[in-house]
Amino acid sequence: MSSSVSTASIPPWNRVYRLQDLENWTFKGPSLAVLGHPIAHSLSPQIHNAALQQMGPQFAGWRYFAFDVPVEHLGEGLTLFHQKNFQGINLTIPHKVEALSVVADIDPVAKKMGAVNTLIRQEQGYLGRNTDGFGIQNALLEELSSELSGADIIILGAGGAARATVVQCLESNCNKVWVGNRSEERLSELIQSLGGENPKVLTFPLSAPPKSLPTSSILINATSLGLRPDDPSPADLSTFPRNLRVYDMIYNPPETALLAQARKLGMPAANGLSMLVYQAAKSLSYWTDSKVPVNTMFQALADSK
Ligand code: NDP
Repeated sequence: MSSSVSTASIPPWNRVYRLQDLENWTFKGPSLAVLGHPIAHSLSPQIHNAALQQMGPQFAGWRYFAFDVPVEHLGEGLTLFHQKNFQGINLTIPHKVEALSVVADIDPVAKKMGAVNTLIRQEQGYLGRNTDGFGIQNALLEELSSELSGADIIILGAGGAARATVVQCLESNCNKVWVGNRSEERLSELIQSLGGENPKVLTFPLSAPPKSLPTSSILINATSLGLRPDDPSPADLSTFPRNLRVYDMIYNPPETALLAQARKLGMPAANGLSMLVYQAAKSLSYWTDSKVPVNTMFQALADSK
């Protein structure tokens, strides 16, 4: 599509753009972007541009940019991105839920998840999809050798990432999911979002995990407790059955109190970097219709430290 684009005319990807920059956007090569507010901390441009460079000459002229877009400008912003021919867009905080009301079409699984993080250009507008479920599924497989199919899963948290994970577990035909959360209200909202009570989904207060948890399961932290280096763990693993594999969606800091305790107890454990990479790889594969070099993405993250 664009191997003839001169790299001299490509805007630099390692800076943050705004919608005003887009109004004067003259670059005609295939463009991708992540939209968020704030966005300066995002590692997505590093990961995606590194992968594109490895994907062969047909992608040499592709670029992935970061745009700071306040949520009240998302609708008009997407119209502009479409006019400027952006092939694909990633959405991060605070746009993932808001986008449901402004995209042209939504994939049914993303609708169940209640959020979209990947937009794919179509003639009439963008199709919204969600690759977070794919990201967690592949992260568990690669890092903890754990399939969702037939598994018992314990999820801590009931926000957006937890909801996407519950839907992915159900789509993958898991055995049962236990969801523990601090606020009861958000647990009820999650159950409502699944269409009401579901025999496969059980809930519990985070402060009181039930005695009846399965003897062998995957425990996933989808709370934001652990993002600050001095945060306590959302759960005391010594009160859980011993045969646990533990995944923390948090990757910065790289070892949360939860992961430290899991390792001390001899439980297989991994942080959220792999989820970040696999959800990104899935987005890029949608946009390019090509195999994405996942190892290059991991290396780009390691190089960015
Ligand atoms: P949300 O804001 O939607 O949900 C936050 C969740 O954390 C809620 O369940 C909330 O519980 C809980 N929580 C917050 N503070 C506390 C606390 N002090 N004690 C107990 N529970 C608490 O966030 P997301 O679902 O979008 O993200 C959740 C986590 O997953 C974040 O850390 C995020 O960085 C990570 N993430 C990682 C990804 C990756 O690629 N690795 C992808 C997406 C998310 P309550 O309802 O009681 O407030």
